Amino acid sequence: MSRIGILGGTFNPIHNGHKQMIEYSHKEAKLDKIIVMPTFVPPHKESLNLVCCEHRLNMCRLACSEISYADVSDFEIKLEGKSYTYRTLELLKEKYPNDELFFIVGADMFLSLESWRNPEIIFKLATIIAIPRDDDSVAELTRHYDDILKPMGAKAIILQKSVLTVSSTYVRDNINNHDALANLLDKRVFDYIKENNLYRV
Ligand code: ATP
Repeated sequence: MSRIGILGGTFNPIHNGHKQMIEYSHKEAKLDKIIVMPTFVPPHKESLNLVCCEHRLNMCRLACSEISYADVSDFEIKLEGKSYTYRTLELLKEKYPNDELFFIVGADMFLSLESWRNPEIIFKLATIIAIPRDDDSVAELTRHYDDILKPMGAKAIILQKSVLTVSSTYVRDNINNHDALANLLDKRVFDYIKENNLYRV
């Protein structure tokens, strides 16, 4: 039986905070493998700032190429509909019936999980790994788990430290500020963005 983590997101673009989430949860929750899964966004919703699925997938592949236990998956992108986490987890459980699933989220997502579609199914199929987005949020995450999610049947591992303070929004907003991005983006992702002229305003 393997312990499989799933990190879903828009990854527009993937940044070093995401990479640290992968490394940190691998280590702390002793995961054997982590599936990085960009969500599908319909072409008509792609704005200047939301680049197409293929680019987001390619950037994830570049950023994860040296993380031996990370697999980038086009599973949700291939489904082409609105991706519901409970449905993705049901399909993954069919694919990996004997393995244990862990769904990795940042603090912002953890604090709203109860309002996602069919949260009980999510909680039945996967243990949630929550990662604070700043050190202050551990107490808030613990409270939210005790008061709201645990009574709904959720199992959660709340990691105690935050990872790099960065968001994809910050990266997009500072795309021309190479110095600001140096430690926040994988060099190959940065080069890919430049070569393909992404996020230009
Ligand atoms: P955006 O700024 O475009 O909203 P984002 O940086 O939040 O993007 P997503 O692709 O939406 O990135 O995030 C995927 C997952 O990673 C989510 O669960 C989100 O909470 C989490 N996450 C992203 N960045 C961090 C971070 N620096 N620390 C902890 N969690 C993070």
